[in-house]
Amino acid sequence: MSDQPMPEGTPSDAAPGGRVLVIGAGPVGQTAALCLARWGIPVLVLDARPARDPVGSKALCQQRDVLDVWDACGAGAVAREGLVWQDARTFYRDKELFFYRIPDPGRSSLPPFVNISQARTEEILDEAIAGNPLIEVRWGHEVVAITGGTGGTGGTGGTGGQGGDEPARVRCRTADGETEIEGEYAVVAAGSRGGALREALGVAFPGRTFEDSFLICDIEAKLKGWENERRFYFDPEWNPGRQVLIHPCPGGIFRIDWQVDTDFDLAKERKKGTLDKRIRKVIGRKRKYRIDWASVYRFHARMADHFQVGRFFLAGDVAHLVAPFGARGLNSGVPDAENAAWKIAFALKGWAGPGLLGSYEWERQAAARENLAVTSATMDFLVPQTKAAAKHRVRVLSRARKDPGNAALVDSGRLAEAFWYVDSPLTTADPHRFWPGRPPRGASPTPVPGVILPDADTPGAAHGATRVRGLCRDGLLVLVGEAVDVHEVEGVLSDVVPRGMPLRVLRFGELGDGGVVAHALDARADELWLVRPDAHTAACAHTPEALAVAVRRVLGH
Ligand SMILES: Cc1cc2nc3c(=O)[nH]c(=O)nc-3n(C[C@H](O)[C@H](O)[C@H](O)COP(=O)(O)OP(=O)(O)OC[C@H]3O[C@@H](n4cnc5c(N)ncnc54)[C@H](O)[C@@H]3O)c2cc1C
Repeated sequence: MSDQPMPEGTPSDAAPGGRVLVIGAGPVGQTAALCLARWGIPVLVLDARPARDPVGSKALCQQRDVLDVWDACGAGAVAREGLVWQDARTFYRDKELFFYRIPDPGRSSLPPFVNISQARTEEILDEAIAGNPLIEVRWGHEVVAITGGTGGTGGTGGTGGQGGDEPARVRCRTADGETEIEGEYAVVAAGSRGGALREALGVAFPGRTFEDSFLICDIEAKLKGWENERRFYFDPEWNPGRQVLIHPCPGGIFRIDWQVDTDFDLAKERKKGTLDKRIRKVIGRKRKYRIDWASVYRFHARMADHFQVGRFFLAGDVAHLVAPFGARGLNSGVPDAENAAWKIAFALKGWAGPGLLGSYEWERQAAARENLAVTSATMDFLVPQTKAAAKHRVRVLSRARKDPGNAALVDSGRLAEAFWYVDSPLTTADPHRFWPGRPPRGASPTPVPGVILPDADTPGAAHGATRVRGLCRDGLLVLVGEAVDVHEVEGVLSDVVPRGMPLRVLRFGELGDGGVVAHALDARADELWLVRPDAHTAACAHTPEALAVAVRRVLGH
């Protein structure tokens, strides 16, 4: 990949006003396109593949806040079609160690998790894209060079800040030759194979690759009692010394995930019939089954050293790779896309302060670091790398059934959750509210500025939205307690809110949610909560003037 200027005579496609490029039509690129279009931004999606060629279930478990993003941009079918589950059971050999139910700090009609194949998710996102006149998708367009837009005004070198004055420009290889394409900004969502683009942007990808291999089989079978829960087995007799994870999927499919030898050869296993034996050990000797998809994976723990270079924003697997236990891959790529989209939209609309675009890297790297910490701890527990760690694992597992202290140490994957932007430069901390850090497994985060707004249904409410989160996606939302004078708040904010930017001020009591959100936030009568367009809270102020300062901060001033 080079950054040489285009040879003379190469056709070029200059950006029509405000167009944004999305490189990669995987689920993260699709989400970025839909989120940008939701802000009224025209989008051109470029993908190297000749057409959609869906493979297997891959990103199977999708978390509620991600379903919410998709619902907001016309892909609510993912939540509707997915198989709903909220219970997770963990076993050691043949005994159950513990069970927990995924919490909901609010009372949303969206399920805590659904299982649905990545192939179907991509199809649903494609359908939403096809129905959106602001999005154009060009398959067979491999981006082979970055030719402009990498100079920034802030951060180190060309990273961070406003992204510079020059538009994002790329060179594409197509069946008809090379062409140069331009956009105001570009979201790079080129996935785990996007290394050449990272290199072209001067971005390193440090981290590690785990030696161990995992076999994933989607099988169609009738497994009664297993249809609505995640089951994780440590050292089952059918995979001694290792583990097996079982997930139900729509259409009577179950995903079984075994840790296997590093030199495991799937083709050989199939030929020798040992794959059948392996499956039969789990499902029993007599049950009928059919293999829908099988694949072997090795996992990585890596993060790009920059998520923004000039006008290019890295999102999804091209920016971070994590082991899938906990389902933190696509479930963190989607918030990357949403975060980049609202900030790019605000910049294009003239609503952003000088620090807003640069906060993308800060916020999403912090989220990626959290995901790396969580998933790497899981991998270290699942596949201990030293004798001492292996001993610790056996000790913890054998004591966990009777001892809650040891049960708390069993790590079968902490399930994906929305990141808390507690320390973000866009968040105004509230000195009255203390952040104790990552909540224990199965618990909701303490309500402090930075956590995502709990959601609840609002049937028949006068504001017209069906869920509380539906009120925040078009601009900024302020929720105030009973003791606050709404007119005074609107008056004070009118001086700081950019012209044309939607801002809604509502009392908690007007939400029509039966007080669920106020209760979940432990909101008091004199409080003013500021909510960003991605539903994260940004401040809990106590005066309209303090709120006005927080509004300027969340806009990047
Ligand atoms: C076995 C397994 C299980 C998983 N389970 C889960 C799970 O349960 N939940 C979860 O959240 N995540 C899960 N994941 C992770 C999830 O699959 C990924 O996070 C997700 O696919 C990332 O999407 P993406 O859009 O970033 O990348 P991709 O899906 O890889 O898409 C990248 C796109 O970019 C295109 N592209 C690449 N280079 C160029 C270029 N130069 N020019 C133009 N186009 C280009 C490619 O053609 C491709 O279409 C799992 C992953 C694996 C492997």
